[in-house]
This record gives sequence, C-alpha cells and structure tokens, in this order.
Amino acid sequence: MLESGKISYNYDPMIQFYNTLTKQKEDFKPNEAPRVGIYSCGPTVYDRAHLGNLRAYVFADLLRRWLEKNNFQVTHVINVTDIGHLTSDQDTGEDKMALAVTREGLPMSIESLIKVGEKYTDLFLADIDALNIKHPHHLPRPSNHLAEQIELIKQLEEKGYAYRTSDGVYYDISRFATYGQLGNIDLAAQQESARIESNPEKRNPADFALWKFGPLGWESPWGHGFPGWHLECSAMSMKYLGESFDIHTGGVDHIPVHHNNEIAQSEAVSGKPLAHYWLHNEFIRIDNKKISKSLGNVLTIDDLQSQNISALGYRYWLLTGHYRSPMNLTWEALRAAETTYKKLVDFVVSLEAIAPTLSPDATTWQEKIINALSDDLNTPQALALIWEMIKDSSLSPAEKKAIILDFDQVFGLNLASARQEVVEAPNEVQALIEERERARANQNWPLADELRQRIADQGFELKDTPNGPTIKKI
Ligand code: AMP
Ligand code: ZN
Repeated sequence: MLESGKISYNYDPMIQFYNTLTKQKEDFKPNEAPRVGIYSCGPTVYDRAHLGNLRAYVFADLLRRWLEKNNFQVTHVINVTDIGHLTSDQDTGEDKMALAVTREGLPMSIESLIKVGEKYTDLFLADIDALNIKHPHHLPRPSNHLAEQIELIKQLEEKGYAYRTSDGVYYDISRFATYGQLGNIDLAAQQESARIESNPEKRNPADFALWKFGPLGWESPWGHGFPGWHLECSAMSMKYLGESFDIHTGGVDHIPVHHNNEIAQSEAVSGKPLAHYWLHNEFIRIDNKKISKSLGNVLTIDDLQSQNISALGYRYWLLTGHYRSPMNLTWEALRAAETTYKKLVDFVVSLEAIAPTLSPDATTWQEKIINALSDDLNTPQALALIWEMIKDSSLSPAEKKAIILDFDQVFGLNLASARQEVVEAPNEVQALIEERERARANQNWPLADELRQRIADQGFELKDTPNGPTIKKI
C-alpha cells in the first residue's frame, strides 16, 4: 500500500548489521524499540572535510534513513571536535586546531580556536547539505561540554582508573580488564609513538590522556589545560544517548585506538556496554593512494563541481560500493556514476504517475530490495535491483516510479525533487516541439532529428518519454 507517497510494507524484515565488536553479522534489536540512538564520530573542524571523510557521514545517513524507513525513531548525534585532537591519535604531537589557528594567521587563543572551529563547522554543514545528509539531532562540541568531561575524569579518578603525570592525567588501561575489545590494537604504532615522544611517567604505552596540561585551555581540578580527544565522545555520547545506546559509527581508523578508548572510559564508569553495535566504514583511496596532504590529493566537494560532477553524483558513486569495502576513486569512475545517476533522474522525471498500489510482481521486487538493505545495508545490490526492475516489462511505469521514489527515502538521491529540473519551454521552443511531434507522427525521422537539433541550438535537451517529450536546460 502507498500512503502519501510512502510505501508501508506488510513485511517485517530482519535487519542485520556487521558488528565490529563480535566480528559477525547480527540481528538488529534496539534497547528500547522503536527508539534508536546512533552516535557517529564527527569531523575535527580544523580544515574542510575531504571526500573520504564525507563517506563516513553518507554511510551514517544511510543507516539512519534505513532505520527511519523501518519506523524506528532515531536520535542521531555527530560531534564536531574543536579542541584536543592531536596530530597523532596516541596523544602526541600538536593540537590540530592550534595548527589551523596558526595557518589562518590568528592570534593563539581559545577564542581563535573556537572561531576556526565554527568556520569549518559551517563548511561541514554546507557539505552535508550538498550530499543530502540529514542534519543530526545534536551536533555537540567539546569546548561546550567541559563540565561533563571534567566530571567523567573525576569519576574515573575515584574508581582508580586515572593517574596524574607531569604533562596530564592519564587512563591506566591495565585497570580495565577487557581493554581492546574491538581489536586491531596496533602495538607497533604505540611503541613507535612512545619512542618519538615518550612520557616516561606513563604506566603502559597505550595509556591515553584524559586531560593535558597547557597554556591553551581551561581550569580544571588537575591544572590548566584541555580534555583528551577520546574523552569528548564518551562524555557527549552518554549525555545525549544515555550510558548504553544502540549504534556507534566511525571510520575503520577509529577501531584500534579511539573506539577502544571510548569503551574503556565509559564502561569503567557505567559498568554497561557503551554501544551494542559498532559499525565502521572502510576508506576511500584516490587513484589507489591514501588521501593525504603530502600527496596533494585531498579532494573536496568543490573539486567535484569543477569536474561537472554533482555532489549527489558522488553520493550515487558511494552507494555503488558497500560501506565495508574500500573504494578507489578515479575521475573515470565518478563520471560514470554521474552519468548513471542522471539516467536514473531522467527515468524518474519522464514518468508522470505514481502507482497507488503495487501488483504482486512489483511487491516481489520491493521485497528483494528490502532484503538487500536489511543485509548490512547492501546498497550496491539494492541499486542493481532497481536497474533490473526498470527493465522488467511486467511492471507498469507508475509502479516503477513508486518503488524508486520510495527507496529514495533511503538512498537520499533527491530523485523526487529532480522534477524541478524540468523546465517550461519558451514559446518558440514549444512550437518546435509540436512541429517535431507532427513529424514523428508522419514518420518523418530526418525532420524530427533536425528539429531536435534546432531545439538543442536553443539550449534545451529533448527526451522522448512514454508520457510525451520532456525538455531540460543544457
Ligand atoms: P577526522 O576529521 O580526521 O576525525 O575524520 C572524520 C571521519 O572521516 C572519521 O570517521 C574517519 O574515520 C573518516 N575518514 C578519514 N579518512 C577517510 C577516508 N579516506 N575514507 C573514509 N573515511 C575516512
Ligand atoms: Zn569519537
């Protein structure tokens, strides 16, 4: 049945996700259905997000949309880190935000740090708008949540997990028996970072800073300074979603250090699992290389536009890969995705009607697509099924349009408003279209082709559809 453009299916799929915590696909059962809490580690707002970063949020958005489509009431939190993220995730090096303050020629102060953070938060929001990512319900930043972070350190100290050194307060991982549950602990990296910038007072190489002393920052019971990067996610996720919520997301790079540390901090205090499902997206590489400043391949949404690739074309390309598969970005691949995306838009635009009900054949397609998305968000399979369905002559065009637009609530490709691209023809073009229709009726194909060219010369692309010709500005 279709209700106000929304298909409500008499079909209750068992949604499964691959959980990094248990290393297997699991049935999704929220703590308190229909409510679902999702926390996604957000950007460090010291620079514009690159195309790789943005995959993490397209993925989180798909997850949210899919759960909402299945009538869950999602609360989505994405943090923006505006203090405390050092150049190495192992708490060594300089503060990335402080480096940005210097780069932007501002005086070094907390005010400048916050100003830079706000500038890049605005750009982040513009990027997620371009990608049709729904805004999170909360977008907290650590500079606004000092009390919560200080309180968490106090509790850790009381319970014997925290100790002071001359450069900060650290978490003693040997006190947390299950440290490293998510796995992937990179001992070699830890030892290397300990070698480069050793704090001989640290009890274990993997101990991490809860509070670092320094001139930039705020007062605390331990001294002037700022919170450690991992602390903000523990404090803010528990504040907005409770001590034990449903889903935590982030890129795979967060597994070894950041997420193991979040678990250690939160669970030492609460005694409960921080999140039940840990979902991680794989990385984007560009021309088979890591995205990095030193390679000069840090591409942003603006770079796409200069190559005539739309942000939603990029979103389409992302959906052609599974979120747990690494993807290799090339201009050729993006151009192909843009063309296919436009084809899908044109197909949807060319169809006027939306079917009010679905035939059994259409329902079968619908169920296949639901099953693909239920299987750990298999978007490449879901998109392939959409294209197969388009070719199925047993479905009416109106049914196809209904199904595509219905799943676009999950894909987020904005196919429903693509209709706006269709423009009213000026009178002289309208006259050419009508003349061409007469030529076609008389099977005068050379004249029809010539008229199509004359329409193009006026700046319009003409498409023949089952409902008659449509035009679009070139
Ligand atoms: P950052 O701003 O560095 O904290 O990163 C923001 C998000 O982007 C994190 O969830 C990272 O895991 C993710 N990320 C960073 N680089 C990539 C990449 N090349 N491909 C996919 N995700 C990435
Ligand atoms: Zn985080």
